[in-house]
Amino acid sequence: LTNDQLDRWDRDNFFHPSTHLGQHARGESPSRIVTGGSGVYIEDRDGTKLLDAFAGLYCVNVGYGRSEIADAIAEQAKQLAYYHAYVGHGTEASITLAKMVLDRAPENMSKVYFGLGGSDANETNVKMVWYYNNILGRPEKKKIISRWRGYHGSGIMTGSLTGLAGFHNKFDLPRAPILHTEAPYYFRRADLDMSEADFVAHCVAELEAMIEREGADTIAAFIGEPVLGTGGLVPPPAGYWQAIQRVLKKHDILLIVDEVVTAFGRLGAMFGSDKHGLEADIITIAKGLTSAYAPLSGSIFSKRMWEVLERGTDENGPIGHGWTYSAHPIGTAAGVANLKLIDSLGLVENAGKTGAYFNAAMADALSGHAHVGDVRGEGMMCAVEFVKDKASRAFFETSDKVGPKLATALLGQGVIARAMPQGDIIGFAPPLCLTEAEADIVVDGFKAAVGEVFG
Ligand code: PLP
Repeated sequence: LTNDQLDRWDRDNFFHPSTHLGQHARGESPSRIVTGGSGVYIEDRDGTKLLDAFAGLYCVNVGYGRSEIADAIAEQAKQLAYYHAYVGHGTEASITLAKMVLDRAPENMSKVYFGLGGSDANETNVKMVWYYNNILGRPEKKKIISRWRGYHGSGIMTGSLTGLAGFHNKFDLPRAPILHTEAPYYFRRADLDMSEADFVAHCVAELEAMIEREGADTIAAFIGEPVLGTGGLVPPPAGYWQAIQRVLKKHDILLIVDEVVTAFGRLGAMFGSDKHGLEADIITIAKGLTSAYAPLSGSIFSKRMWEVLERGTDENGPIGHGWTYSAHPIGTAAGVANLKLIDSLGLVENAGKTGAYFNAAMADALSGHAHVGDVRGEGMMCAVEFVKDKASRAFFETSDKVGPKLATALLGQGVIARAMPQGDIIGFAPPLCLTEAEADIVVDGFKAAVGEVFG
């Protein structure tokens, strides 16, 4: 196809996700046709090479162009491209991957269900929480508490769990029975004029008040990411998760830990749950499970939940839940090769070590800037939040488009980062194989882009 043909077909036929539809169809907004990738770089059809400091959508953990995973996918496709996983069917790849996931998961976890993406995994989780409470004879205990700024997907249920206005507006979301509570976002709640410890106490008090108001016997589960991702890449204040878990335990509320971004190394640990002392009843995994070489997600269930799910099927027959593509052989073959590569390349360790270097370099380069309110991060995640006024932490107007302008200026420096959907926050989450020299390229490029935007 010629470039002109591709452009026309793209605009005429392709409904792009998370895109200004009209602007794109009319050719008013930039588009990029990506043709290849190697390590931390992608390349487009014009031959432009860009350092992808967001690893796609923080998912290409092992980096681009890994032939080990491509070969595993090809082998699986030739041998058996598909068979379903219903009524006990499996493949060597799906059985091996389940074992590899459980070997790496926190101690209290028991079984893994494989889906396709993070959104459908969280749908599975909500259904299993409801099933669990029905089997335990408490049909009223069904509400799920999520946090403002949490991101858990864009389906009807998972879009409701998500706590970002852009995913609700004009879609009639959120839907019952979802409730949202305060996010552990200390920087943005400076208006409360309290210490970090007092802010944690405030988050806990909000949660307790919600439980009191609604009735603990109506609340089934709490869902949260160990470190907020799409909501702004925000590590929680010290003691937050311990305090929240005490409340959940007291009221017999299950904990779903959404590790779609954090599992398999992003925070410098195999699971964020282990790093943050989270004792989950369900862990959601996706992205890093295959490094996005094929679509695959998972829901890992704790021993205590599994026992009840098993009892439910003894009493009621097979679990009435499953997708055609659950545990798809190509996805699970990719997953096996990917987890082996994460181990053999030492990527979890590198995410911790080079991630710390990257975060420190970013803070050194930018925290003194008049419009930089916060530089924060953990492992191979880093965010820089911009403010109009440093003392008051006042926002820029949305119409100032500071975030998008910064991301565009950074592209001009040959680096991809993400203007996060709410606030003027530039997010970085590079492949876990990033080197210190590549981290320097990102930091230098961003410093130049900030200089360009603010003069
Ligand atoms: N959960 C979290 C924490 C995510 O970051 C995402 C996607 O970014 C999802 C769920 C949804 O995953 P998917 O886009 O694969 O449906």
